[in-house]
Amino acid sequence: HARNSGEHEYLEAIDEVLNTLGPLMVKYPQYIEPFERLVEPERQIVFRVSWVDDYGNQVVNRGYRVQMNSALGPYKGGLRFHRDLNLSVVKSLAFEQVFKNSLTNLMIGAGKGGSDFDPNGRSDGEVMRFCQSYMTELYRYLGPETDIPAGDINVGGREIGYLFGQYKRLTNHFNGAITGKDTNWGGSNIRPEATGYGLVYFSEYYCNHHGTSLKGHKSVVSGSGNVALYTAEKLINFGSTVLTLSDSNGYILEPNGFTKKDVDFLKELKNKHDGNLQQYTAYSKTAKYFPNEKPFSVKADFAFPCAAQGEITGQEANTLVKNGVKGVFEGANLPCNNEAINFFKKNKVLFAPGKAANAGGVAVSGLEMIQNSQRQQWSKEEVEEKLHSIMKDIFDSSLKAAKDFGFNDDIQAGANISGFLKVANSMIQQGNV
Ligand code: NDP
Repeated sequence: HARNSGEHEYLEAIDEVLNTLGPLMVKYPQYIEPFERLVEPERQIVFRVSWVDDYGNQVVNRGYRVQMNSALGPYKGGLRFHRDLNLSVVKSLAFEQVFKNSLTNLMIGAGKGGSDFDPNGRSDGEVMRFCQSYMTELYRYLGPETDIPAGDINVGGREIGYLFGQYKRLTNHFNGAITGKDTNWGGSNIRPEATGYGLVYFSEYYCNHHGTSLKGHKSVVSGSGNVALYTAEKLINFGSTVLTLSDSNGYILEPNGFTKKDVDFLKELKNKHDGNLQQYTAYSKTAKYFPNEKPFSVKADFAFPCAAQGEITGQEANTLVKNGVKGVFEGANLPCNNEAINFFKKNKVLFAPGKAANAGGVAVSGLEMIQNSQRQQWSKEEVEEKLHSIMKDIFDSSLKAAKDFGFNDDIQAGANISGFLKVANSMIQQGNV
């Protein structure tokens, strides 16, 4: 604990995993030692990012890359640009990534990174100069066999383009050292859609296993970014009524449900980089906007938190349960705190942890790496079919691990156990490094 003192987010992420791995380690003490090694990142890179804004002022941000674990392959995980980002958050996400990447079965290790830079309100030129300065330090630690970052909050196609451009300039290599690239220059089809689509596939399997379905049921979705919008799109496609979307300033209620056209409008708004969700009310006559509120007080059958970590605490969990929620499926990373998770389980609410349910994004990033190394591009249909089958395998292997180790249908426990065992066994086989 002294080593990670004050890192609340990181300690909470470890606790979440230990709650289920604890009993496993009592039974199989050989796994205590790899777990102790696993919680100490293999390498943590923290660096200054100095750049010049449009008015000639020098601005300083802090850059991070935590290379958490390479037992299964090169480090892999997204970059996040957010003003609240700190080392504790990056470590918690990198730790989560270890289990997630293992579950995909794609031979990828785990990492996470980013900066406390906030691109909102910045011009394209400022974002480009920031990305170039960030990469000027980070490039030396990256490579297709070493560490392959991708996008995350506020790091989309534009930022990936600038980061890759600078990586290429500095290394003189055009290779697959970054995923989430545009499909014109090495990106995979379906990568932007993958996390949201994968989440919906996973949730449908989970519902089916419990004799229900997303079809004909109401859903609340939070966020209005990459994950939230493609989750909403696929939910609509599956026949669920999507009632809400949100951003950091409030939420929109669409009482009769969003249509595919509404979601397309919101995608365009997001791509402009200067829109906020409230502008949607000028487009839709039926929508209501609730400033400074989260959408989880709206009555629905299923909840899909797709915005940020910690958005569902005990309080929101209480309201959701009171309103009769049947399932909570995490699209974001760590959106439910441990109090909320325990409350859902106590009340027999189906709960899918992000490390399993949102693994579709990194899975298609893994498929992008394969396509890059083969100098190939697979069709949309081919990638979506592979995504579908990976999500089914993650659900099946999590369920099997839960059953094998006495956790019945507990998908959270199963995902932790299944993800951990593969990494831990590989660490043991590779020696004490
Ligand atoms: P985006 O940047 O595309 O969208 C983030 C959305 O969440 C925006 O609507 C944003 O609103 C909102 N948001 C951000 N911070 C907060 C906050 N503190 N409170 C409320 N709303 C907030 O990011 P993504 O959609 O890519 O990522 C969303 C989540 O999904 C993250 O947890 C990410 O780690 C996770 N994830 C993403 C993957 C991917 O493939 N992109 C893969 C797996 C997980 P605003 O614009 O107002 O800030």
